[in-house]
Amino acid sequence: MDVLKRFPRSHLVLATLVAMPLTSFLVASPSPQGGDRFTTELVLAEIDAGTHALDLDTTDPEPSATVREHREVVRSGDSLERIFQRASISRQQLAAVMASGPAATGLKRIYPGNELTFTIGPDERLVRLAYAPNRLESVVFDRNGDQFVGRTVHREPERVRSYREGTIQQSLFLTSTQMGLDDDITIRLAQIFQWDIDFVLDIRKGDSFHVLFEELYLDDEFLGFGNILAAEFINQGKRYRAVRYTDANGHADFFAPNGDSMRKAFLRAPVDFTRISSNFNMRRLHPLYKTTRPHRGIDYAAPSGTPVLASGDGRVKIASRNASNGNFVVVQHGEQFQTKYLHLSKFGRGIRGGTRVRQGQIIGYVGATGWATGPHLHYEFLVGGVHKNPRTVPLPKANPVPEGERQRFDIEASALLALLDDQREDVQVALNR
Ligand SMILES: [Zn+2]
Repeated sequence: MDVLKRFPRSHLVLATLVAMPLTSFLVASPSPQGGDRFTTELVLAEIDAGTHALDLDTTDPEPSATVREHREVVRSGDSLERIFQRASISRQQLAAVMASGPAATGLKRIYPGNELTFTIGPDERLVRLAYAPNRLESVVFDRNGDQFVGRTVHREPERVRSYREGTIQQSLFLTSTQMGLDDDITIRLAQIFQWDIDFVLDIRKGDSFHVLFEELYLDDEFLGFGNILAAEFINQGKRYRAVRYTDANGHADFFAPNGDSMRKAFLRAPVDFTRISSNFNMRRLHPLYKTTRPHRGIDYAAPSGTPVLASGDGRVKIASRNASNGNFVVVQHGEQFQTKYLHLSKFGRGIRGGTRVRQGQIIGYVGATGWATGPHLHYEFLVGGVHKNPRTVPLPKANPVPEGERQRFDIEASALLALLDDQREDVQVALNR
């Protein structure tokens, strides 16, 4: 059974987390309509604060009764000149704002729907201009004599810990959507376990996940999902657990409770599962593709054009074409390991013999070239020249938590995992009532 549960805010007291990079938030920023609405509110909040500040301003006394506010929404094809004209603010004053330094550069990148708020004194004298490119940032220009002083005000969203668990019926994405999670956080959840679990072939009905994560709020409004803090995935009865840990250098990554990195030298599945999961049909698991040779690899059914990823760091040994393999790539990983990718529709950019590739880099796209009855990737994994099952072969691991940080890791990891287990038990108790 699927259960939704929000943490009480009191759990926030425990929050000690590294700020998520702003860029990753912006990518997942609200829809255009939402953005407009957010912007409006932020500007309104700024005006409130601004009006008070003006009242207290003794260097430039301005009777607040004669100060008015004028709001302009950026239209498509608009320019600052035109917007200032509509607000009846002179070109000289626009020039003064633009001369105010680095903060003004943001004004050169205004978008339709953005709002500019003019605080205007007597004689159409601009006292303040406020502009909010997004909900977490606003740029305010205050008059100081004949000049303007610009400053950027950053707002930190409130991070609220939250928990969800789900049992997969049809697909991971469907279940997580029902749990109120979006595709982005679902992908991030799966990526934590992508070295252990093959998300294309191994996911079964009855698999479950438990995840502790942050929700970001601004003025009590939900902005989006923050970091995943701890997660558990039960795949075909096997339990995997991971916690987020930030090392002494400020680098955050996921580790098993014993301090091992979740990363390994090879990905379990060399296809971009996120591209095929949205309409993924579990009944198409384990397709068999007839070939005239003994089958020494694994077939991944996927739509033509699905990115094929280098499963590990290495060097392209062959990128070529023949009658049976179609377009194929062979990657050499150190001395021991070799991976092969067959039936590609085309190669990734720059992929040819000798090219160095990184784990997860696109080396080609799923196709049906050569002797293939349908679009799929045929993947082979060789150790010392011998074919192995890539889904069961033990893989070299990445570095664990450094020895010197083990104590801190143990404390933080056990706290997060205890929190995960607490939530889980709460849910179970609620279910049994
Ligand atoms: Zn095959």
